[in-house]
Amino acid sequence: MSDTTRDGPDAAGLLHLRNLEKGDPVAPPLVQASMYHLPGDPQAAFTYGRAENPTWEATEAALAHLEAAPVVLLPSGMAAISAALFASLRSGGRVLMPADGYYATRVLAESFLAAFGVTVEMRKTVDFATGGFEGYDVVFIETPSNPGLDLIDIADVTAAVRAVGGVTIVDNTTMTPFGQRPLELGADIVVASDTKAPGGHSDLLMGHVASRSETFLARVAEWRKFTGAIPGPMEAWLLHRGLETLEVRFDRMCSSAAVIAERLSAHAAVRAVRYPGLAQDPAHALARAQMLRFGFLIVVTLESAEAAEAFIDGCALLQPATSFGGVHSSAERRLRWGDDVDPGAVRLSVGCEPVEELWSAIDKALGG
Ligand code: PLP
Repeated sequence: MSDTTRDGPDAAGLLHLRNLEKGDPVAPPLVQASMYHLPGDPQAAFTYGRAENPTWEATEAALAHLEAAPVVLLPSGMAAISAALFASLRSGGRVLMPADGYYATRVLAESFLAAFGVTVEMRKTVDFATGGFEGYDVVFIETPSNPGLDLIDIADVTAAVRAVGGVTIVDNTTMTPFGQRPLELGADIVVASDTKAPGGHSDLLMGHVASRSETFLARVAEWRKFTGAIPGPMEAWLLHRGLETLEVRFDRMCSSAAVIAERLSAHAAVRAVRYPGLAQDPAHALARAQMLRFGFLIVVTLESAEAAEAFIDGCALLQPATSFGGVHSSAERRLRWGDDVDPGAVRLSVGCEPVEELWSAIDKALGG
């Protein structure tokens, strides 16, 4: 809990090396193929590039190890979220999701699921359990929420949803399997954007769906095959490489974020800080109970939008960019996308820079 990864996955599953023949390449081969050699009877492990690919499989095996559950790889986080929602909902169904989570999930639900006859309802993350879960086919959870960093009690909500016959999907993007393990807390399905910390180098988009239900995952794999929303082999290969260092990067990012959040909360130029690891954070008790680490995202609120923009532009080690989870620290004001946050709120993604160097750049940009 909190400052250790002792309950997280071990490293052995990332080593596909044990299955190698003498002379095989140590790095998994990058297979760029639409066609496979397929004479006669078409039953084969690899038939056509939209259906199967050995590089996807190597990456899925690594992710499956981290999730301790089977995984289907998708070409982005949103592709994973769409696959999970469309594979679990039908016309006439009802889905509940956070009103203050990642905006694209809400847009997807309201623009597309609703058009297919699904009733979409939203609740604020902080009051998510109020009203119960009776009548929902799917309850979608995002915790910590992006960008507010409020939490939902995964064990409580998944138990309550299961008791009334529903299915839960947890977006674990902000935490990765090293920081939070929703399937072990009772979730039916995990979705994640691997564009963030798992890829880690801001050079790929990718996502995955994990579930212990083989039937459900087979449906997700069919969705991928028949919608054609398939990962590029090159991106899958890059993600595999990223996964090999995820634990060390995530460890460094979370440790640095804890130090920086503490110092920001004592800084004269800062109005407010949200970070689940801070003892005074409203979500801290729940964070201690359900998260293995407290993550690398911090929301720091400055006096005004102008002060926030000046801070981001003036900090030599902060990349002004949307998205998060890269080796380089980055930041943005989420109000610029219309999120329901303070104009001076900056979402800070702490990267892998040496923490004292990073802090001194942040402190300097805040006016010392
Ligand atoms: N879920 C969360 C919580 C996110 O923050 C994001 C992207 O920012 C996504 C899903 C979507 O991921 P992608 O951009 O890889 O489609």
